[in-house]
Amino acid sequence: MTHETAVSSAREIADRVLAPAAGQNDKAGRFSTEAIDALGKAGLLGLMLPAEYGGSGLGPRTLSAVVAIIAEADASVAMVYVMHVLAATTIAAARPGAAVAPILKDIGAGRHLSTLAFSEAGSRSHFWAPVSRARRNGGSVRLTAKKSFVTSAGQAQSYVVSSLAPDGAGPTDSTLYLVPAGTRGLSVAGVWDGMGLRANASSPMALEDCEVPNELQLTDDSAAFQAMLNVVLPLFNLACASVALGICRGAVAATATHLKTARFEHLGQSLGESLPTLRAQLATMQIDTDGLSARIDDLIDHLERPRETTMLRVLETKAAAGDVAISVTSAAMRACGGAAFAKHTGIERLFRDAHAGAVMAPTGDVLREFIGKAVLGMPLF
Ligand SMILES: Cc1cc2nc3c(=O)[nH]c(=O)nc-3n(C[C@H](O)[C@H](O)[C@H](O)COP(=O)(O)OP(=O)(O)OC[C@H]3O[C@@H](n4cnc5c(N)ncnc54)[C@H](O)[C@@H]3O)c2cc1C
Repeated sequence: MTHETAVSSAREIADRVLAPAAGQNDKAGRFSTEAIDALGKAGLLGLMLPAEYGGSGLGPRTLSAVVAIIAEADASVAMVYVMHVLAATTIAAARPGAAVAPILKDIGAGRHLSTLAFSEAGSRSHFWAPVSRARRNGGSVRLTAKKSFVTSAGQAQSYVVSSLAPDGAGPTDSTLYLVPAGTRGLSVAGVWDGMGLRANASSPMALEDCEVPNELQLTDDSAAFQAMLNVVLPLFNLACASVALGICRGAVAATATHLKTARFEHLGQSLGESLPTLRAQLATMQIDTDGLSARIDDLIDHLERPRETTMLRVLETKAAAGDVAISVTSAAMRACGGAAFAKHTGIERLFRDAHAGAVMAPTGDVLREFIGKAVLGMPLF
């Protein structure tokens, strides 16, 4: 698979599978297994995995393009996909000796969906500081934890789970483990009835004395924090920003359609022909969307050619994207008036979905806290 074929596969799936069902799945809060089947069959679940596992070895540029296309059709599916790609990347970066090759091959073959289970009820959005602690038990560990939100809960075939290392001394001395679905003691602990991203099954999950063999320990003891910072954060922030971009593009397109088709019959004009204020609002949405796109391109360039400013860009891009998505979809709600409010346009789903980005960790506030500290030369933690 090349960048071009990945993008055209994503577009074909978005048009054929995602867009027609997105509204209904949102309404029903229904996880789309058809979407995951289609992404798997097209080889997109193994997008970034090395060829030895059947993956395509593609990079951040392709990830971003594919995610934005999926999100424009259905942001719930896009977030499921983002969590999966990040989990797969974390599994592929497992320490030597981890027995993860069969799972990676299943992902490469499009048969296995994974996800990240970091956030805990006790430490909330501070995912880098789990309060659960693994207990050593001979050739395995036992995990007991309350995970507050897990995208694809009950739908994924495996979960990348964080927990304090058995002998970890500090609050970030955690370890990552791979917990297969079906592990005794692992369960979905509530229903997902979110305001947005309603079709991505982000329920809480409970781990009750789950046994995880040493071969499924993904990082060394207390090395999860480094993996979160170096492996997960850059791609996760890029991918979240790309979800926001897809949502913005969807809002611009839906607003343009409405302004062209809804009419003032008594004036013989469409809304767009009649009202300069609406054209100006649409123009601002377009400017902000293209601005976000340029910011994402800049981050991709920084990830492809890392330099001193790369981490700052990683932090800035997700923070900015969360705000842009809220602002663009809010403008769309206003420009499309009562029709949008009455859910005639699909914009209201985009508006609700757009609000997830800023509260998903690292949240927009936390990112600002890190950026401010970085600019002042203060330690981030
Ligand atoms: C749709 C959805 C899907 C999710 N999927 C996953 C998943 O797959 N895996 C996973 O691990 N987690 C997931 N999460 C959890 C997510 O990453 C956050 O942990 C969660 O949204 C935080 O919510 P909270 O109420 O616990 O926030 P709180 O921590 O209670 O924060 C409340 C407010 O305080 C602000 N705040 C917190 N700390 C600071 C600080 N230091 N400085 C300034 N402001 C601060 C926050 O920005 C927020 O506005 C998901 C969340 C959502 C909404």
